[in-house]
Amino acid sequence: MNLLKKCLLIFIIIVSMLICSCTASDAKQSNIDQNNLVIDCIPVLGGDSFLIIIDGKSMLIDTGVRQAYNEIKATLNFYNIKKLDFVILTHYHKDHIGSMSDILSDFKVKKVLMIDQTHDSDTYSDLMQNLENIKQKIQYVKAGDSFNLGNSTFEILNPQKNLSKNMNDNSIVFKLNYVDKSFLFVGDLENKGEKQLLNNDYDLKSDFLKVGNHGEKDATSKKFLKAIDPEYAIISPKTIDSFSKTEEKLLDKDIKTQIVLLNDHIVYTSNGLVIKVQSYENFTY
Ligand SMILES: [Zn+2]
Repeated sequence: MNLLKKCLLIFIIIVSMLICSCTASDAKQSNIDQNNLVIDCIPVLGGDSFLIIIDGKSMLIDTGVRQAYNEIKATLNFYNIKKLDFVILTHYHKDHIGSMSDILSDFKVKKVLMIDQTHDSDTYSDLMQNLENIKQKIQYVKAGDSFNLGNSTFEILNPQKNLSKNMNDNSIVFKLNYVDKSFLFVGDLENKGEKQLLNNDYDLKSDFLKVGNHGEKDATSKKFLKAIDPEYAIISPKTIDSFSKTEEKLLDKDIKTQIVLLNDHIVYTSNGLVIKVQSYENFTY
């Protein structure tokens, strides 16, 4: 083959690779209606990470373990997000804050909502060191605070004024209201924390529930579930077989339950009147 032919062949290969990658990504993207609310449940290896997009504004709830960073980064790139309006770190266990330091080095973050409690771990120390540069963007939240994300509002229902010794029970819990639909995220709240919210008489009724503490047995009491009475629920399990009791409980109540496993992103979209569920393959595993 002469040089000209070789060059032409290489050129054709490069162009066709570019066309293929654009088509694949566009096809994926066109499936998700980004004009409305989007909740992308990112598969993060046994932790929590949820991306919410409303009216072009974005919020990341928790950042999984550190090894999950590539998947989170690919997800943010997929939605063309360069700046996060909010990051909520529900509490300081490593399956929730693991990728935050990496996120801070690659993306702009406007506001970080956290709990006013310290934790004895290397991941926590690293995080606090990295947050030092953006101290003015941190807000420690508690029940009663509320914020806007695009045209939606979200109210903080937990932590309470008096913190619990069990950090899971101090998880940031919030309810996001979007037109007629509401979405409740409860971090790793366990039964004691749930009881506290029930005693406080909050309006917990929500259409969607991010199930507490990875669907483990020590969370999602019957009373708590009854008060929320969701139509949809998502479980982000620690392991492949640690959530079956909770899943059964949800299915018994005819709640449409999805599990965040490694292979797929579960995506909820809503125009505020109806909620749709779909999924797409992960980017990096
Ligand atoms: Zn956790």
